[in-house]
Amino acid sequence: MRATLIAGNWKMNGSLASNAGLLDDVRAGSGASRAQLAVCVPAPYLAQAQAALTGSAVAWGAQDLSVHDSGAYTGEVSAAMLGDFDCTYVIVGHSERRSYHGESDELVAQKTARALAARLVPIVCVGETLAEREQGATEAVVVRQLKPVLDAVGSDLAKIVVAYEPVWAIGTGKTATPEMAQQVHELIRATLAQRDAAAAQQVQILYGGSMKPDNAKDLLAMPDIDGGLIGGASLKAADFLAIAHAA
Ligand code: PEP
Repeated sequence: MRATLIAGNWKMNGSLASNAGLLDDVRAGSGASRAQLAVCVPAPYLAQAQAALTGSAVAWGAQDLSVHDSGAYTGEVSAAMLGDFDCTYVIVGHSERRSYHGESDELVAQKTARALAARLVPIVCVGETLAEREQGATEAVVVRQLKPVLDAVGSDLAKIVVAYEPVWAIGTGKTATPEMAQQVHELIRATLAQRDAAAAQQVQILYGGSMKPDNAKDLLAMPDIDGGLIGGASLKAADFLAIAHAA
């Protein structure tokens, strides 16, 4: 039986002042949640998240990492640096990084391997654009994105989390119906199972894309939807916790 994971992706939002209340409220409300909880915060706020959440049921993490260990890579943050702040998770291959920073499927796979080597849990994002869905290419896109990741993780498959995030549903208010999402989650699990059937049953596959308190319950009721990667709604403690409570 897979645990449900509700992970917030704060993206490039927050300030020291506003984060303090949000972290306190999430921590205070987390006791009532049966789901695992995590927040992936901007890198400058990792120390703040660590200080606010240590000893609580809420894990924290980052939104990206470098493929390099150290050196002349201005602006990059290494896996070891994330480890210094006791991160549990790191998001890898978010569609905003694929589209605005040109991250390829291969780079995402390398980042996934780097995260695992540093004992971080990578939340690997995959998902099609609206044009790809309309062309009937959803399955091909998701399988193409997963393949290099599966090659890179090898026998560590059970240690990753996958997030299916249809690009057309991110931040748009358009959510995939539970049935549409389930269909792709089932495909993702079958693709993982071709490599390692036992590990595929353990991998948490999250849905991301305008998940909110009012649609979370139906999405999370689907057999292959094991949680959510939550953008906008993770910036309000009440909404984030309501999604967790729906799980
Ligand atoms: C995301 O960016 O990972 C996401 C799911 O965003 P939103 O919930 O705002 O659609």
